[in-house]
Amino acid sequence: MSRPETDVIHGDGARDGARPLTTPVYQTSTFVFASAAELEQHLAGDDARYLYSRHANPSVEAAESKIAVLEGAEAAMVTSSGMAAAATALFGLLASGQELVTSAAIYGGSVHLMTAFLRRFGVNVRLAPADEDLVAHIGPDTRVVWFESPTNPTLRCIDIRRVADACRARGIVSVFDNTFASPINQRPLQLGVDLVMHSATKYLNGHSDVVAGALVGPARLIEQLQPARKFLGGVLDPSAAYALARGIKTVALRVARQNASAQRIAEWLEADDRVRTVLYPGLPSHPDHAIARQQMSGFGGMVTFAVGGTYEAACRVFDRLQLIQRAASLGGVESICSLPVLTSHYGMAPEALAAAGVSRDMIRLSVGLEHPDDLIVDLDRALGR
Ligand code: PLP
Repeated sequence: MSRPETDVIHGDGARDGARPLTTPVYQTSTFVFASAAELEQHLAGDDARYLYSRHANPSVEAAESKIAVLEGAEAAMVTSSGMAAAATALFGLLASGQELVTSAAIYGGSVHLMTAFLRRFGVNVRLAPADEDLVAHIGPDTRVVWFESPTNPTLRCIDIRRVADACRARGIVSVFDNTFASPINQRPLQLGVDLVMHSATKYLNGHSDVVAGALVGPARLIEQLQPARKFLGGVLDPSAAYALARGIKTVALRVARQNASAQRIAEWLEADDRVRTVLYPGLPSHPDHAIARQQMSGFGGMVTFAVGGTYEAACRVFDRLQLIQRAASLGGVESICSLPVLTSHYGMAPEALAAAGVSRDMIRLSVGLEHPDDLIVDLDRALGR
């Protein structure tokens, strides 16, 4: 039987029996209703229809349910970037007069959002020095504690359960940026954290072709944050959500390989006398190895090392790399390398760098999926003689 013309012109083109294995890209800004009654029913909240893609979209929801499962959570919300996730959480949770406590040792973009923007709206932002105990900075007006582990670029590890318990005992919302570890290596909700945030641009997507973010946690909290995403507008485009969901299918395999390669590379670098120091949570020499073993099931794909004591020495190694690419970001299938003093810690005074434990000869490596032997050959050549 032929299909009505309007169906052919306006419909999705699929016959009714189509049951795709993957979630198609619902590349649509809006959804169609058959009648006023149907729309009324939707607005009353008693159907599973969609209205408008800034509110909800099936391709976006497919990515969200995958991320929720990975973190062992009831719900997740994806956003147009990690920063959009941070903005959604912070503007959704805090009000003027309330206090946010965080460590100076978190992603620089998050610090900027908090100090340059949240403060303008009357939120008191308390930045604990990197080497100080976060819990000691919690005060009577603290509503949210935001933290991260392993930290960038020194890969120091914070006892997640201890901070989460201190927050819970005081009725404070704890928010944890799990970007560096990925849910494959670390599940903060199981350690008592209330809300997990991700730059899904990194390990979750894993292919350096999407910018995206996520918030993950109890359904009640994710529901509470829906208006912030809806009205701040940081929603993910359906095509990007499709690419993110596709990337997520291999995150466990990718991260397992990245953990193993990073461990090998860290051990190789540590044994080499051209390298001054190596920071990797999986090395027994790492200052937080014990806590990393306690709360991580893998030590991650990030390795930071320092050479020669000077910025010029680091630049020489950096410039000689041939396989490992010089680029910002992390967590992708291609190994990339950055100099923290030119990226996350650019322009910081020597005292501030020292407080963050960052030296001018530091190189940060995000280990990809290349054969570790090839990566070691590249590093060996770059270290030179
Ligand atoms: N959190 C961490 C730890 C990051 O490394 C980044 C980006 O580098 C972000 C948040 C921000 O994420 P995005 O760049 O996806 O906005």
